[in-house]
Amino acid sequence: MVDDHSSLGFETRAIHVGQQPDPRTGSVIVPIYQTSTYAQDGVGGLREGEYEYSRTANPNRTALEQALAALEGARHALAFGSGMAATDALLRTMLRPGDHLVLGDDAYGGTFRLIDKVLTEWGVTYDVARLSDVDAVRAAVRPETKAIWCETPTNPLLGIADIAVLAQVAHTSGAKLIVDNTFATPYLQTPLDLGADVVLHSTTKYLGGHSDVVGGAVVTNSDELREKLFFLRNTAGAVPGPFDAWLTLRGVKTLAVRMERHCDNAERVVEALRAHPKVGTVYYPGLPEHPGHEVAAKQMRRFGGMISFTHVDGEQAALDVADGTSLFILAESLGGVESLIEHPGRMTHASTEGSTLQVPADLVRLSVGIESGEDLVADLRTALD
Ligand SMILES: *Cc1c(COP(=O)(O)O)cnc(C)c1O
Repeated sequence: MVDDHSSLGFETRAIHVGQQPDPRTGSVIVPIYQTSTYAQDGVGGLREGEYEYSRTANPNRTALEQALAALEGARHALAFGSGMAATDALLRTMLRPGDHLVLGDDAYGGTFRLIDKVLTEWGVTYDVARLSDVDAVRAAVRPETKAIWCETPTNPLLGIADIAVLAQVAHTSGAKLIVDNTFATPYLQTPLDLGADVVLHSTTKYLGGHSDVVGGAVVTNSDELREKLFFLRNTAGAVPGPFDAWLTLRGVKTLAVRMERHCDNAERVVEALRAHPKVGTVYYPGLPEHPGHEVAAKQMRRFGGMISFTHVDGEQAALDVADGTSLFILAESLGGVESLIEHPGRMTHASTEGSTLQVPADLVRLSVGIESGEDLVADLRTALD
């Protein structure tokens, strides 16, 4: 896949890789193979590459996986029923009881919950470190550390970690670097090119892009990891259905143009927020004063569609803003064409309360959509005034 398509531009890969016209009908779009099982030529007559049962493989999933691998410049992608299903399969493939994991200090709440509540019961230990502080990461790594789990930009504080440096830190200790690339998407950042071993996606977000499907994926160049993950997925069954894979792939086709508009609109919104007297800190890696700006500029094409900010009047005022917009819909999730607003402390990150990953109470998070930027700015101003 990599050899065949690496010379093609990102936009071309998104639209064509794994998506040849259907050989039987000429259908330009990969048809939805809504089937659980497949007729066989004879007992034991299954040929290599053919389908047998849809827990194991399905053509819509295959098409999505080939496209995702091509976008990350990788050999393999495996699609899952959700980002958390992908995370669970990945961590249960890579870790054994007694193993240790280093996790970023504002990791996605669901990832933290899985590690803190499920994997620890299973005998895995973890430490939390600020990933922008390389010395802190080095100090957290132990002989039994098997992986560093990295998100960059982080959720919801938009912290930036240097992927190339973290890959070195991990590899020096015989550990792997996993990057959750959900916020950046392969359009803005390709972690495997920077030395990461594995990329994790919640395709629910920008890759699907239309808030109409839940999914996840693991992307890697390692044949061994791919085999182990394929085995676990087939054994445990956390697969996406054919229609979910089809919807996600339809979203992927327009990823490049959507990301450009998400970034354009986010820049306009950041400018308006910074000028507003009720706004305290604006967290956006595109801002020159953002502590991770230089690293972000080095490893990202642009700075993405996610913004967080604090309200100078505290938690209740932040809650009122989240309740007070009309175009920005009050909802969890992110990365869709429509703009969303939320209060991380009470919503997406409620499960981190009291932990080292707790987020500021006066924080508001925006997922800036691809509507008219002018309308989005006006909507926020109304809610803030
Ligand atoms: C949403 C999200 C996940 C979890 O994905 P689901 O598809 O909701 O299971 C993981 N990481 C990040 C950064 C996310 O935003």
